[in-house]
Amino acid sequence: MTLSHPTVPIRATDDELRRILEDAELPSLLVALAHVTGDESLLQDDLRPGAGLLAGPQGGYDEQKIEKARGLCLDALRRYRDAGCPAPELPDDDRLRRIFTFMMGDQPIDEYMPLLQDELALDGADVRAPGWQLGDIAPDASFFVAIIGAGMSGLAAAFRLRQAGVPFVILEKNDEVGGTWYDNTYPGCRVDVPNHFYSYSFAQKDDWPQLFSTQGVLLDYFRSCADDLDLRRHVRFGTELREAVFDEERRVWTLAIRTADGKEESLEANAVISAVGQLNRPKMPEIEGVEDFRGPSFHSACWDASVDLAGKRVVVIGTGASAGQFVPIVADQAAHLHVFQRTAPWLLPTLDYHDEVPKGLQWLYRHVPFYSQWYRFWLFWTGAEGLLPMVDVDESWPHPERSSGPANDMVREMLTLYLREQCGDDDALFEKLVPDYPPLSKRFVRDNGIWPATFKRDHVDLVTTGIERITEKGVRTVDGDEIPADVIIYGTGFQASDFLTPMKVVGRGGRDLHDWWDGDSRAYLGITVPHFPNLFLMYGPNTNIVVNGSIIFFSECEVDYVLASIRMLLENGKGAMDCREAVHDAYNQKIDASNSARTWGAATVNTWYRNAKGRISQNWPGTLLEYWQQTRNADPADYELF
Ligand code: NAP
Repeated sequence: MTLSHPTVPIRATDDELRRILEDAELPSLLVALAHVTGDESLLQDDLRPGAGLLAGPQGGYDEQKIEKARGLCLDALRRYRDAGCPAPELPDDDRLRRIFTFMMGDQPIDEYMPLLQDELALDGADVRAPGWQLGDIAPDASFFVAIIGAGMSGLAAAFRLRQAGVPFVILEKNDEVGGTWYDNTYPGCRVDVPNHFYSYSFAQKDDWPQLFSTQGVLLDYFRSCADDLDLRRHVRFGTELREAVFDEERRVWTLAIRTADGKEESLEANAVISAVGQLNRPKMPEIEGVEDFRGPSFHSACWDASVDLAGKRVVVIGTGASAGQFVPIVADQAAHLHVFQRTAPWLLPTLDYHDEVPKGLQWLYRHVPFYSQWYRFWLFWTGAEGLLPMVDVDESWPHPERSSGPANDMVREMLTLYLREQCGDDDALFEKLVPDYPPLSKRFVRDNGIWPATFKRDHVDLVTTGIERITEKGVRTVDGDEIPADVIIYGTGFQASDFLTPMKVVGRGGRDLHDWWDGDSRAYLGITVPHFPNLFLMYGPNTNIVVNGSIIFFSECEVDYVLASIRMLLENGKGAMDCREAVHDAYNQKIDASNSARTWGAATVNTWYRNAKGRISQNWPGTLLEYWQQTRNADPADYELF
């Protein structure tokens, strides 16, 4: 399925082209035009873009380079138009390597080639499709899969299973697909990964209205994927999994479910894919008196739109990514707003965060063949491995409290400078907004200037004094101040490290998954858990990314691995696969060692990346390439097959 449009011939005049190019993202356009016209002289050494996001917009080009790149693009577009817009050829490997070299500089391109070709998918083929059918490899086998959750990961799993002809059902507790994009309806909710990249490889879309789309747009995208990929009829809405028990003799999972009409039912499946997400169970703060407050109060993930905030005294607790989005909008409505900040977030300057996709860019997607793919690829690459050196820990670095090494310190300098500019001469605000921990050890909050600007408003206060308790009428600080409130909004995050709660999962030998984890969830590749055969986790332990990639990329890797695992089982004529404990343990030791060499592993700041035992249980510490390589195939040696 593609949601992108076929390109149409160029009829624009030179003047119109000039105007269109004002909106172009130039490094990726140079590349697309080199591909389309075959003219590699467009890829000039002095126009090689800087590495990663930190290079800034337009690959870090200065004014002179922008002018030069625009001139080259204009010439190429004219020539292409005047030649009648011939259909371009697909570049061969040598040409691709030269293009990648222009974009990626001195990276080990050969190592990355297969991943890059997969991600780029220039020929439009769904290169990640399973390429096998249940009926072909095991015609007599019956294999049924239950997917828990119809959010982004669950839909991806369902699509791939359908392609392989493996029957499945999706159990979804909500009455619509979309997961987090269905649950979170707070004002201002939007994605914080560029949207062109935050989309399935198999359902790309070139007409996103915004650069970082809003919740409604994303929910529509996932809804239309469910419809167009014909997945909706497999979903049992309003249905919640309560318990899953593995029967070792029969090698099946028995699922106890509660249906939409409140009935208890039982269902059998050969495999279970948990696609319940990490950030789906709201976390209320452990503050005394939460129940005492007499006015309306709610968590950001359960936004109560019936509460009119106009003219009210509103208190918000929390300054994470969710609050970063809704606080400025609440400030527009409230008579007075107090925002309680326990830990300041680092702001990632993103000046176009709230912008529509410029008209010229939309035109280029429609008229320059492959530009949409090259642009997506550019976003993929600039948001990928290039950022990892910024989160390296340098053991000899003398200032671990402010940064984890020289590269991380450089990020700190840049982000601090941004805050200084935004705060102007308001030193008191600057002091409050500058975090006291290394950047990127906690999830950043994207900002186009609106966060600092909100706290400059007369009726908005950023309170950094601790909370003693919630009272009937508001909030009492540890200094004894009473902050009166009509409404309290909790932007206090999610129970991220309590994977698969509140379900009960019982594996081999009657082991309870949560007892086995004992508050410290681990999995092999974030996907399989010893003693719990044929249970596959998506967005499981240590698969969250901090600075590189999009979570959709990870989910697609996980789905590839699940499909490869099912194929391995069927080809071997087996019914179940149980991850070997030694393989799982060795893998997790490596993950822990690698995480401790990342900023978030070394820093001591509060973060949902760390579980109650103090272990980083959320994050993937490596490169995208490593995860992609490790999830290409399932190795029978890693499993007991029975
Ligand atoms: P969060 O990042 O965990 O933020 C929770 C906030 O509540 C923090 O500021 C935290 O302070 C504060 N808090 C928690 N308990 C508190 C207490 N007892 N007293 C005072 N303050 C307390 O949660 P979130 O903002 O919902 O975001 C979670 C994750 O969801 C993000 O990191 C991101 O990955 C994802 N997300 C993404 C988007 C997007 O893509 N647009 C939007 C929203 C969320 P401390 O920092 O001191 O713990």
